[in-house]
Amino acid sequence: MAITGSCHCGKVRYTLDVDTDEAMACNCSICRRKGYLLTFATPDKFAFTGAAEDLTVYTFGSHNIRHQFCKTCGCAPFGEGTGPDGQAMVAVNLRCADVDLDALKVTRFDGASL
Ligand SMILES: [Zn+2]
Repeated sequence: MAITGSCHCGKVRYTLDVDTDEAMACNCSICRRKGYLLTFATPDKFAFTGAAEDLTVYTFGSHNIRHQFCKTCGCAPFGEGTGPDGQAMVAVNLRCADVDLDALKVTRFDGASL
């Protein structure tokens, strides 16, 4: 079952072809500030269904992850980067998904210590 999501104003939308009830909460410098609840997928399982001009991108540090966010409302529905195995990866923010956040099994990840 696909998971759909969007930013607050609705310009940035996604469909994630992964059925999951698990999310990762990381304490690294950006995740803690954004409040991300993340799940990860390969790009073939993810579709951005908005207009590219509605997105803007933030990178920092090694610039490995492109943190995409909506130009209008500032919500950050997903990011793109490379996984530990060198494969392209999409980090999907389930806080923007049409799911019951309280039902997610959240695993804490100590990204701050990396
Ligand atoms: Zn928006």
